[in-house]
Amino acid sequence: MMLTMLVDLDHLLAIPVYDASRCSIGFHPLHQFVPIGLYLLACFHRKTRYIGIGLVIHMVLDSIDCQITNGIWFTLEVYA
Ligand SMILES: [Zn+2]
Repeated sequence: MMLTMLVDLDHLLAIPVYDASRCSIGFHPLHQFVPIGLYLLACFHRKTRYIGIGLVIHMVLDSIDCQITNGIWFTLEVYA
C-alpha cells in the first residue's frame, strides 16, 4: 500500500514542487487520465488489485484536496 505513495514522486518533476494553487490531477504525468484509467483496470486484476485500489484512492484524495483548495476537481493544463 505504501508503494502507491511512490506515484507522488512525479510531483517532484514539477517546478515548483509544491504549488497550492495547482491541481495535481491532470497536471503530473502519473496523474493524467490515461494512467488513472490503468489504475482502475488494475483494481480488477487479482495480482494488481491492491496497487490499483491504492492508486485510485490517491487520485481521489488529490482531487478532493484540489476541490477544497481551488474549487476544481482536475486541471486540463498542458504539461510544459
Ligand atoms: Zn498525487
